[in-house]
Amino acid sequence: MLVDYHTHHYRCGHASGTLEDVVKSALARGLTEIGLSDHSPIYHFDEPQPFPNTAMHPDELPRYVDEMLELRERYAGRIAVRLGIESDYILGWDDFYRELWDGYPLDFVIGSVHWLGRWNVFWRELPDGKSREQIYEEYFLTVQAAAKSGIFSILGHLDVPKTSGHMNGQLTPIVRETLHVIKEADVALELNTSGWRKTVNECYPSPEILRYAAELGIPVTLGSDAHSPDLVGADFDRALNLLARCGFQAIARFEGRRRYMIPIEEALIALGQ
Ligand SMILES: [Zn+2]
Ligand SMILES: [Zn+2]
Repeated sequence: MLVDYHTHHYRCGHASGTLEDVVKSALARGLTEIGLSDHSPIYHFDEPQPFPNTAMHPDELPRYVDEMLELRERYAGRIAVRLGIESDYILGWDDFYRELWDGYPLDFVIGSVHWLGRWNVFWRELPDGKSREQIYEEYFLTVQAAAKSGIFSILGHLDVPKTSGHMNGQLTPIVRETLHVIKEADVALELNTSGWRKTVNECYPSPEILRYAAELGIPVTLGSDAHSPDLVGADFDRALNLLARCGFQAIARFEGRRRYMIPIEEALIALGQ
């Protein structure tokens, strides 16, 4: 069994391919499950779609879910299509996101901290009046709040601010503390392979953080964060071998917001190793 729980398609405005293209690519790569997880609409600005190249319009959300449901039926027996979303987590918006996602028949919800208020963590320029140290602390405290919210099945790309140079993948005291909170909250992490395709050239989170997560017994799953169909399952051989070296024995899969585990050996067999 092999799964990819983090994929995007054209609706977010910065990815290519349709949902069906993603499913077809997963089938061609021998995956047994494909998690569809486009970016949630952005709700914490006044305009309905403040950044059309970042996330879908709120009106698209029901159509996105309907299309996933249709694909799940169409591909039943060939590949398990899991319905998901990569949701923003905005500090203090717990009730809003909980109610929003409870209203859809999702199999999993990835919680990603892309925004600290109106500042995006991918922006290189720091927000006015804040130091890099403040941003670093604020980011991890927000991730901790996301974990505790109980909304999410998976926390997305844990050390992602390293992409724009705001941190590195070190296991600092606040990262350790965050991992303890995640363990306590019983949320999964993802090994997101997209960092290997970026200038930072390191997966999310770093091997050092992954090792500590394995020590604590935090469940982990796999995500390519593919923004084009050909990247579904990208670098999964490298990822699975790294997870095994870090001390993980299984990867998580999700159905109806419940988590199940797949032994890593089974996933490696599916990859033909
Ligand atoms: Zn993301
Ligand atoms: Zn993503």
